[in-house]
Amino acid sequence: MPSQTPGVAMTECDSLRRMPALWLAQLLCPARHAICALAYDAETTAPADVDAQLLRVVDGTQGVNPWCGLCGSRELHVEHGKLRTNDWEEATQQLRELEERQLATRLALGEASRN
Ligand SMILES: [Zn+2]
Repeated sequence: MPSQTPGVAMTECDSLRRMPALWLAQLLCPARHAICALAYDAETTAPADVDAQLLRVVDGTQGVNPWCGLCGSRELHVEHGKLRTNDWEEATQQLRELEERQLATRLALGEASRN
């Protein structure tokens, strides 16, 4: 017999709980180099709010330069794209792997520019 919390009846609505709709917003230069990114649930967060948070990162108050560190462009814009999963745990793991690869690329480019 499945366990249930005493006094709480399982309803059909419980099995239809809202699933997150996970998106990724990236602050990009025209060459699509990512300056920063933010994953969010589009069911609970307005994309315009995410835009404002990302643009605040480069507004001069956060210590982040308002230009692309790779190509120097100051023409930054926000793009939104649907993540491959709506599972936060899976999305977090994928984003951490991408972040590690991008950091390795950044370090390699930094090494190359010094040679
Ligand atoms: Zn760039």
